[in-house]
Amino acid sequence: MAYITLNKNNFFNNLDIIAKQTKSKDKIALVLKDNAYGHGLLEISQMAKEYGIKKAVVKSYDEAMKIENYFEYILVLADYPSSNNKKIRYTINDINSIKKFPHATKVELKVDTGMHRNGIKMSELKEAMLKIKEQGLILEAVFTHHRSADELSSEWFWQNENFAKVKKEAEKLVSGLGFDKLRFHSCNSASLSRHVEFDEDMARVGISAYGCMQLPCAFKELDFKSVLSVYANKISSRVLKKGEAVGYGGTFIVEKDCVVSNYNFGYGDGFLRICSNTYLTPEAKKQVGRISMDNASFISQMQEILIFNDAKEMAKSAKTISYEVLTSLKLNIKREIV
Ligand SMILES: *Cc1c(COP(=O)(O)O)cnc(C)c1O
Repeated sequence: MAYITLNKNNFFNNLDIIAKQTKSKDKIALVLKDNAYGHGLLEISQMAKEYGIKKAVVKSYDEAMKIENYFEYILVLADYPSSNNKKIRYTINDINSIKKFPHATKVELKVDTGMHRNGIKMSELKEAMLKIKEQGLILEAVFTHHRSADELSSEWFWQNENFAKVKKEAEKLVSGLGFDKLRFHSCNSASLSRHVEFDEDMARVGISAYGCMQLPCAFKELDFKSVLSVYANKISSRVLKKGEAVGYGGTFIVEKDCVVSNYNFGYGDGFLRICSNTYLTPEAKKQVGRISMDNASFISQMQEILIFNDAKEMAKSAKTISYEVLTSLKLNIKREIV
């Protein structure tokens, strides 16, 4: 079977850069949703703990329970509690969902400052905080998410201004309602990279920790290094004569006699099929013929082939983003820390 390696040095290099940006390891909340962006939830949690990361962000209650022993604080982005766990905080994404949380649940209120996906409206802040009080929930933080932090435009500034207004109003309301001092956070990886003086309570970083952030070249160059590599093993080899075609539909015709080998990594494992007949590996091995479910052919004789060691490059071939390349990698592929 194909396998994945996770480079611990590169991961720690990335966390060093992020810790410099946040000025403290304690302010890093590592985003571990979708199997830690395909890297492996437990493998990344283990390394993060070793590095000294105390906070994590996941999508669901189930993910949070799996990593409970690795972190002191876990933020769930979109789920409800199935049991009471002191470490887990839940996101309020909609004013009408407040009544669904049991009494004494720790919650963080998401405010829509412009992305218009999740979160209460800015004008609903007071009403939401009153409802949270009424429901007997423990409000710990107010946060938002950027829609264009990775793009060269004024939108990031506009959302920061909106969030500054939210902060001011929330701080005014909080003492009257008897909540403790609130924490505030708004940064994903791209947004954190743009702050000259980061002064929030926490940053939610995913893609930069995995070393696969893609930003316009006008932004400050940062030395993040890709953590994940995918390798596949040869199933079989054959010599093809000029004019013979490879794979389903015979879509690749060899121009001169050559050795084509078939390797055990296909779209069922996460090799995006759109890369068929266009993808070139980091060692310049050309993928030929349509990518199959369990395998793909390359002009190569190697026993083992490096499929990719930087999801950004694979993403270019697939005309997508590194996030999709990474989260397409299936759970059952063996992950090994190197
Ligand atoms: C996924 C996610 C992040 C992390 O974003 P990156 O670009 O990977 O750093 C942060 N915040 C929220 C709300 C998210 O859903």
